[in-house]
Amino acid sequence: MIKAIHKLVQYGLDKDLIDPLDIDYVVNRLSEMLAVEPSIFQTPEHPAKDVVACLEPILEHAASQGMIENIIEERDNFESKVMDLFTPKPSQLQKTFDSLSPKASTAFFYQLSRDNHYIKTERIKKNKHFNYDSDYGQINITINLSKPEKDPKTIAKLKKQKSMTYPACLLCKENVGFYGHLSHPGRSNHRIIKLALNNEPFYFQYSPYVYYNEHAIVLHEAHIPMDISIKTFIRLFDFIDRFPHYFLGSNAGLPIVGGSILNHEHYQGGSAKFPIEDAKSFKSYQRNQVRYELLHWPLSVVRLSSKNRSALIKEAESLRRFYEKYSDETVNLINKTDTMHNAITPIARFKNNTYILDVALRNNRTDEKYPDGIFHPHQDVHAIKKENIGLIEVMGLAILPGRLNKDLDRIEEALTNDQPIDASLSTYQRWIESIELSDHESVRESINKAVGKTFVKGLEDCGIFKPTLEGQKSFTVFMEHYFNE
Ligand SMILES: [Zn+2]
Repeated sequence: MIKAIHKLVQYGLDKDLIDPLDIDYVVNRLSEMLAVEPSIFQTPEHPAKDVVACLEPILEHAASQGMIENIIEERDNFESKVMDLFTPKPSQLQKTFDSLSPKASTAFFYQLSRDNHYIKTERIKKNKHFNYDSDYGQINITINLSKPEKDPKTIAKLKKQKSMTYPACLLCKENVGFYGHLSHPGRSNHRIIKLALNNEPFYFQYSPYVYYNEHAIVLHEAHIPMDISIKTFIRLFDFIDRFPHYFLGSNAGLPIVGGSILNHEHYQGGSAKFPIEDAKSFKSYQRNQVRYELLHWPLSVVRLSSKNRSALIKEAESLRRFYEKYSDETVNLINKTDTMHNAITPIARFKNNTYILDVALRNNRTDEKYPDGIFHPHQDVHAIKKENIGLIEVMGLAILPGRLNKDLDRIEEALTNDQPIDASLSTYQRWIESIELSDHESVRESINKAVGKTFVKGLEDCGIFKPTLEGQKSFTVFMEHYFNE
């Protein structure tokens, strides 16, 4: 076991996670943690190639000695505690981060988050990716396989666990260094960086699930609900001013059209390029140094751009306020019943010395015909996608549920061999009928095309003004009302 400890220490040295001065300290701390006899550090003859190979024998040891149960949650929590020894303390990390240039600071922090295995790259690599050429340009599809499925043993244990209220949610700053338990992932090696946005306290971190390059999360210091106002625009552009190589966007603050966490104010960003950036516009306007473009996109998106940041924020706020009150019964848009229904998904970027804000118009009303949401993926796409459409998907990157992986394989097999569809796949029955097989492509290519097409249909369901001539006309009527207000 001591050899495994030395190997991990060598990994830490190779990745600059620890300094040679730390060697004896880390060897002793790890030995105590694993209840083994320490010995003088010796450079391993065969250093491990990656962190997973280093950690495997250590986790096996912990499980065999009864320190943890051999289930993924307990292994992950223990591993996080081990890797905390290879991670700077929050204050020390903050100093390093703040001493670097914007690009170097994010690159450094992202590398650290992978090297200390807070981001589990090998699990993310399991995700399946393909592209779909739509009428709107190329759409990116990801089938999310990085979150391991729960073991029945875990489910049984969870039933016995008393409910816990600390930290209040997965985003709260109190997650830093938190050991975790069965229903809360281990965050011993998790770090966040303090930032001021709109002179308010925020923190910056990476998502452990990285759906795209440098997938970052920016969270408020307090556990307060999502709320979009002029403050949101100021915060987004304060962030963009400091990190112009990143985008930052916010989910809408209402259920159905918002993200999965509504009770903690947070944003998502990163350095990836998304399909929406190449969207064409079908109409544009100019007002107060701000250019407005209506995008040819499945959702209804107004793109505002300007070299003048404060002019852009002012116009964005006017648009937000106007839309909040806007109804157009010809497109079934009603802003208010017993509650407010209109909301926006704003996404900020800086490109060619220009501030850009994409504003997706959203509405979360339901009715008898569409109990899940009038502007939400409709029943006919639920086989592929029924979850909320958040900002990442608004931008044209689909994050589809892991169940699809096996199910699509089985559908492919059945279609290839001309077999009947198994009863367990009955929820896909109508969707399978929509797959257009062709002699010019493989069955899998046809299936992937159908997945892409269905996802785009789900996005179109979320569009307030449909991408038809009629819908575009209603969209321009909305803009004209806005300008004439
Ligand atoms: Zn929280």
